[in-house]
Amino acid sequence: MTEKVQTRCVIAGGGPAGIMAGYLLARAGVPVIVLEKHADFFRDFRGDTIHPSTLELMYELGLLDEFLKQPHQEVRELRAVVNGQAVPIADFTKLPTHCKFIAFMPQWDFLNFLSTHARAFPSFQLLMQCEVVDLTFDQQRVTGVRAKTPRGDLEIRADLIIGADGRHSIIQACAGLQRQEFGVAIDVLWMRLSKKQGDPQQTLGFFQGGTLFVLLDRGDYWQCGFVIPKGGFDDIKARGLQQLQHDIISFAGFLRDRAAELDDWSKIKLLTVQINRLRDWWRDGLLCIGDSAHAMSPAGGVGINLAIQDAVATANLLAAKLRSGPVSMDDLRKVQARREWPTRLIQAMQVFIHRRVVTGQTSQHKDSLPLVVRLLKWFPVLRQLPARFIGIGPRREHFRSPSTV
Ligand SMILES: Cc1cc2nc3c(=O)[nH]c(=O)nc-3n(C[C@H](O)[C@H](O)[C@H](O)COP(=O)(O)OP(=O)(O)OC[C@H]3O[C@@H](n4cnc5c(N)ncnc54)[C@H](O)[C@@H]3O)c2cc1C
Repeated sequence: MTEKVQTRCVIAGGGPAGIMAGYLLARAGVPVIVLEKHADFFRDFRGDTIHPSTLELMYELGLLDEFLKQPHQEVRELRAVVNGQAVPIADFTKLPTHCKFIAFMPQWDFLNFLSTHARAFPSFQLLMQCEVVDLTFDQQRVTGVRAKTPRGDLEIRADLIIGADGRHSIIQACAGLQRQEFGVAIDVLWMRLSKKQGDPQQTLGFFQGGTLFVLLDRGDYWQCGFVIPKGGFDDIKARGLQQLQHDIISFAGFLRDRAAELDDWSKIKLLTVQINRLRDWWRDGLLCIGDSAHAMSPAGGVGINLAIQDAVATANLLAAKLRSGPVSMDDLRKVQARREWPTRLIQAMQVFIHRRVVTGQTSQHKDSLPLVVRLLKWFPVLRQLPARFIGIGPRREHFRSPSTV
């Protein structure tokens, strides 16, 4: 037996894009159901960076004070260790936002916070353990989703289906939307190492001879990202765990007394880095946003924030119409037109960072600082540029969607 439900908007995926879009549409009085395939939001590791642009949106929603009561770390300046020299890279303290810092907060805490507040709206529903497996069509128009749940099959018909189901989106595949891939030369190994008193402050990472080791402060441990050449994990495995521990110590000597915690390959997770985006983010009855429309590299830690900006633009452009009925293809086209340019710009910057900074095409001299980094070191005012690009990003969104509260 398939349970059948009708609503105004159904969102596949309870990540940052899906939960924020659900929150805003429900706040505007649109009946919305968010479907998340997992039983909870715990995903280790999906990024923790809540940027000033997102914090500003929290302020605009009146949620900021409560949000900042959740456990988090505040980083006002990003520093990097480049070929052994500590250099400041980005200064967030001059940004024109209420919060002049990046908040590092586990993504599950962020999603729990937002979804708890969304549940306060009567038109919001979040169904966990509900995996979208297919779309339904009426000729060329997408009319709904089919999903599997522990209680049985579910079919939801809606005026708008939003694909917010991330980089392996089933929605984009079932909708037949074409994707452009951009070559990425790196993958990332993620792992944890314990944190100890006297450890240095958080940095952006350790750049050395064209390679990169990232350390993110997670309170009582370090989330470590080891950037490797694309497809190189098997070679690293063949060289053995001891060699990997040795490589890590060569980046960050203070980890010498705990690198041995990495005593099993199961403690090391491979992230296959992708950068891609859809040619069309929509078709009649359906819109993709967030990673489902454009998978981001972790470079700059901008993926969560870009996904949220997409959600805000979606609500700004569609909520009022959706309250009373379906939206047109022209309305959906406007969402892409609004968000495609910032996405292109950020992805182009990520490709540049991969090619020129991380994979070391510019670092022939292992002890020298690249020119860009030297300029940032000499002229503090320049550090506001990366802060602005990372912290706020191009074409920042503000809430303009209606509210029933
Ligand atoms: C290892 C790693 C580290 C990263 N680090 C950072 C960082 O530090 N800062 C940053 O800003 N970004 C980071 N990113 C990128 C960031 O995680 C993404 O850009 C961001 O999460 C995109 O949000 P989203 O809501 O579009 O998709 P996702 O966060 O991928 O959410 C998609 C959701 O859909 C659900 N889902 C998938 N398929 C289905 C289905 N069929 N049915 C129902 N639900 C489904 C998934 O379970 C998931 O909850 C990182 C990414 C990775 C992989």
